[in-house]
Amino acid sequence: MMNTPLRIAGLLEHAEKWHADTEIVSRLPEGGLHRTTYAGLGRRSRQLANALQRLGIRSGDRVGTLAWNTHRHLELYYAVSGSGAVCHTSNPRLFPEQLVYIINHAEDRLLFFDLTFLPLVEKLAPSCPTVEAWVLMTDRAHMPETTTLPNLRCYEDLLAAESDEFEWPVFDENTASSLCYTSGTTDQPKGVLYSHRSTLLHSYAAALPDCFNCSARDVILPVVPMFHVNAWGIPYLAPMVGCKLVLPGPGLDAASLYELFETEGVTFTAGVPTIWFGLLTFMREKQLRFSTLRQMIVGGASCPPALLRAFDEELGVTIRHAWGMTETSPLGTVCTLKPQQLSLSPDEQFAIQTKQGRVIFGVDMQIVDDEGRELPHDGVAFGDLLVRGPFIVADYFGTEPGQLTPSGWFRTGDVATIDPAGFMQITDRSKDVIKSGGEWISSIELENLAIGHPSVAEAAVIGVPHPKWSERPLLVVVCKPDHDLTPEELLAFYDGKVARWWVPEAVEFVTQLPHTATGKLLKTQIRKDFDGYQW
Ligand code: ADP
Repeated sequence: MMNTPLRIAGLLEHAEKWHADTEIVSRLPEGGLHRTTYAGLGRRSRQLANALQRLGIRSGDRVGTLAWNTHRHLELYYAVSGSGAVCHTSNPRLFPEQLVYIINHAEDRLLFFDLTFLPLVEKLAPSCPTVEAWVLMTDRAHMPETTTLPNLRCYEDLLAAESDEFEWPVFDENTASSLCYTSGTTDQPKGVLYSHRSTLLHSYAAALPDCFNCSARDVILPVVPMFHVNAWGIPYLAPMVGCKLVLPGPGLDAASLYELFETEGVTFTAGVPTIWFGLLTFMREKQLRFSTLRQMIVGGASCPPALLRAFDEELGVTIRHAWGMTETSPLGTVCTLKPQQLSLSPDEQFAIQTKQGRVIFGVDMQIVDDEGRELPHDGVAFGDLLVRGPFIVADYFGTEPGQLTPSGWFRTGDVATIDPAGFMQITDRSKDVIKSGGEWISSIELENLAIGHPSVAEAAVIGVPHPKWSERPLLVVVCKPDHDLTPEELLAFYDGKVARWWVPEAVEFVTQLPHTATGKLLKTQIRKDFDGYQW
């Protein structure tokens, strides 16, 4: 067989040649919609690759971004990785100190950013000595008249000065292509460096029918940001299958998203539960329906069953639950039923769909006890979830090799069960598990049940020290506006749904809960807020 290396530029070459007219639509931070095609993406990515060379970027250099999902960000994905450098996306919702840490750790040489983030970037710049130039991803008309940034460039000016002829270099497929940092939910952010090979293999796996099930006939709108684990691989998968891509820019509110879904004929979308809750509320209020959307992926945090059911039954959209992490590129499992499960009752099928699902090809997993012994796949035993495969991290960026995975497996930090059919269910993050009287209680299960109460908007369960049981679950709840709820009413809601000793010991009502930059509950902060809590 031909020894053709797998390269990210190959995806672009393919789409440009075979899907040249297929559209890429973006909502811009400057306002308005922008339309291009894969042919346009190819041309401008080559111009950008020439500009990067002129700015002195060489193979392996890190080029940073702080940007929304737009065609310009997509051009950076292809121009940077395609020319052999490393595209380092940062999450602008992180605290400025975390961003400074990440940019310095990655030693970004250039930083491309959207207009929205100008004030943020001006604040970061004095603490980022490795960044030689800051590039504002806009045209001349939107450039600021004054700025404190030392070497500010205009993106469209850079491109306009370059030829669209550029030969994408051919190199070893194990060359680094992009870099993402974990969002630091439990620790300092850590860098995961993807390769061209891992990215391409992940894209093939993501497109499979039991995974995202995408084809050239689809119109994909990734709500998941391109700064959140490469938008779960969608910017690579779309040119691979040759489908239309709709990039929502900064418009992540329910009304803007719904408008794009309808006007652009979106068939497939993916995002975190928080976004879908917002959309559901909006659509219920306005009594709206989807006309083209057929399937959506929900992942990044546990999806409450109430949400799955609402999209499936009320809005007629197939919603698949997926699990993954920065360290797994990110797709690890997706919940798609097997044929023998199709004859089960709707409730039995639904119980399976709330699990995180089966591994996709390229990922192997096991659960182990405290001594590292493998646990049975009986859907009951739970232990530490380990994974391995060609798109799973081997070492964190900038650390000694061989430290992270001495056993050949990556320890996810999640605690899970696996049932006889191979469906994995996350019960907790190992740091969030509640140990009551020597037994484990799943905070996720208790949160999901609370969310099912009609008056509850959001719920978190944390373990709080207890004199008799060592730890007991405390339920912290945000009520929906204009809803009244007593602790007794809420706790009675658990009757018959969980073992008696799992029922939270107490309920505290709050007006809001803290979240991470990727919209997950920030349990470390909630634990701090209730430090010293007296039962
Ligand atoms: P961070 O680790 O910094 O939060 P990631 O985005 O990599 O950033 O998060 C990965 C973690 O998110 C997983 O280890 C898991 O705990 C959680 N997670 C992701 N998807 C799901 C899901 N479908 N159900 C439950 N937890 C999930």
